[in-house]
Amino acid sequence: MPVIHVAEKGIEEMVRHSQRESPREACGILAGKLDDDSVRIKKVYDCENVHPNPNGEYFLKPEDQLRIFLEIEEQEDMDLVGFYHSHPRGPDSPSLIDSSKYYWPGYPMAIVSLSPEPSVTFWTYQKDRFHPVDVVRERF
Ligand SMILES: [Zn+2]
Repeated sequence: MPVIHVAEKGIEEMVRHSQRESPREACGILAGKLDDDSVRIKKVYDCENVHPNPNGEYFLKPEDQLRIFLEIEEQEDMDLVGFYHSHPRGPDSPSLIDSSKYYWPGYPMAIVSLSPEPSVTFWTYQKDRFHPVDVVRERF
């Protein structure tokens, strides 16, 4: 299982985006560097949540997703490394809905919970369920 390295700044950006969108779920894309045994998150991209029930589910706006994927691809030292979405009222773990359909099983998902206080946890998807991933928070 890979270790995820993320800057405090990246965590703060995800939390701020989630607070701005609350009570709607926020969602976005994470870019950085993928190695064999580690994932380094360097950039957080906000997306618009276009799900018809945005207070309980999320769906990344396809135009945002395409634009961001292309932007990441154009940068030589950047890879797509994951996704995030928020749970404005918690919990700080994937919901049943999250586990029932995950569109990017090869990539980790960060969950931003705003309740009872802001927290960000990371998960990988294997064998139809999410597993928690170790995170190293850094000040780079
Ligand atoms: Zn969720």
